[in-house]
Amino acid sequence: MTTLTTTTEEPALGTVVDRMARREVAAHFLIPADQPPGVIRPPAPPMAVRIRTCPVCRADSGTFRASGIPLPFAEWRIVDADETGAGDLPTMTLLGCEWFAPRALLPVALAIERFGPVVASGFRSRAVALTELPGWPFGAALAEIDQQEDWLDVVLAGTADGFPARTACTVPAASRPVSPAVTWGAYRDSLTARFAGPHASDTDDGRWNARYLEIRRTTAAQTLRGYATCPA
Ligand SMILES: [Zn+2]
Repeated sequence: MTTLTTTTEEPALGTVVDRMARREVAAHFLIPADQPPGVIRPPAPPMAVRIRTCPVCRADSGTFRASGIPLPFAEWRIVDADETGAGDLPTMTLLGCEWFAPRALLPVALAIERFGPVVASGFRSRAVALTELPGWPFGAALAEIDQQEDWLDVVLAGTADGFPARTACTVPAASRPVSPAVTWGAYRDSLTARFAGPHASDTDDGRWNARYLEIRRTTAAQTLRGYATCPA
């Protein structure tokens, strides 16, 4: 069970939230790998997606499958939590109540292409990372996740080596909740990105999520206009 304590306003937490937002924007502006002339390759390397049961709402792989939300790439497939047949495929772990927009996973695809499938075989969402920090104060948990996202620096640098030697890399991106909404309005509301996953983003009445999305929006706009390079 993920338990996140309520926080008070503190500059350090705001700094972490801002940095994580700018990091996601930097990842969004990565350029997909070139297709050699005459070669048609899949848009992303194969990957196994593990759906973990959410400790808060109990959504599981059945919830995710029933939602009808497709995986972002046809080359990716869902494997059961206890399935060992994923072989050498890199893995992505999500909660049953969240999903990623395809663009959010571009740095993952580039990392696998550049460094090979055995490198960082354990990509996971921020929400999954939080489940592994039970009882941590929200600010401390975010600071830990902030560090787990540093692998993106190597991808942004465009170098061919130097990928951090670790078994789990947290994806620097907000996710969206898997919604049971049956009305258009409820569905539209459910599309709001949540920077720390479906539940922890509500911490402090969602003000950190609102701040994150504002920084993400303004940084992306500035980058498009050439006013910022959005370094993480
Ligand atoms: Zn959940």
